Amino acid sequence: QAHPPTTLSLRGIVLSFGGVRAINGLDLDVRSGEIHGLIGPNGSGKTTTLNVISGYYRPEQGTMALDGAPLPAGVSTDRASRGIARTFQTPRLIGEASVLENVMIGGTAHCHSTFAEALFRLPRHCAEERELAERAQLALRAVGLVGLAEVRADRLQHSELRFMEIARALMQRPAFLLLDEPAAGLSAEEIRHLATLVRAIREGGTGVLLVEHHADLIFDICEHVTVLNLGAILAAGTPGEVRAHKEVVSAYLGA
Ligand code: ADP
Repeated sequence: QAHPPTTLSLRGIVLSFGGVRAINGLDLDVRSGEIHGLIGPNGSGKTTTLNVISGYYRPEQGTMALDGAPLPAGVSTDRASRGIARTFQTPRLIGEASVLENVMIGGTAHCHSTFAEALFRLPRHCAEERELAERAQLALRAVGLVGLAEVRADRLQHSELRFMEIARALMQRPAFLLLDEPAAGLSAEEIRHLATLVRAIREGGTGVLLVEHHADLIFDICEHVTVLNLGAILAAGTPGEVRAHKEVVSAYLGA
């Protein structure tokens, strides 16, 4: 296998819904081994940006690349093979399957169009299933859910589902991981656990793009922060630089 890509770049991305410019000329670079925070008020284009990178939306203008190699827009089925994994604002699960199976799906989902199909087609015997299950156990251990592997996923609490989604994404051994509001609904202690986990993922060399409302978490763990407003960059830089930016402080941080 070739070296994983080290930079995911967006240049001049424009995307409208009806008359609304959700993203208005966005440039963004996410690098390996770096946590890049994407913040901004509701409706500023954060989730849309993740959806463009994931290939769910095709922008009207702009390009994406992995180390300069074009990343096709509007194609979501190839993202896993290109090393890009994500989680969703609302955790996705197959309730009647075990937590372990829900995580195992992450090791195969790129071959299938839906999680249900991936579950149906999980290998049911042989070394392949054992290998997937062992990797899923390791991913569950990494996120702190190993004791719940055999529990039905619909028995998990909301916060546990968020960590289960991260475990599933880690099954892809992603070069880049896109996290959509992973701290939403988590307690202060769970957010500390999340911070430790995301840092560990970074230490493993993965580049993390973190969409989050929880400003303290962003300023605590990110190397780089981009602040969006109306689909464009209001400020970008280190947490210190972004915090010092007057417009950001008044428009976003409300101080
Ligand atoms: P954020 O994640 O920062 O809250 P979004 O990316 O969800 O912002 O939304 C950016 C803008 O695009 C908003 O004005 C939102 O209403 C609009 N938008 C997002 N998704 C859709 C969609 N599927 N259809 C129509 N408008 C959308």
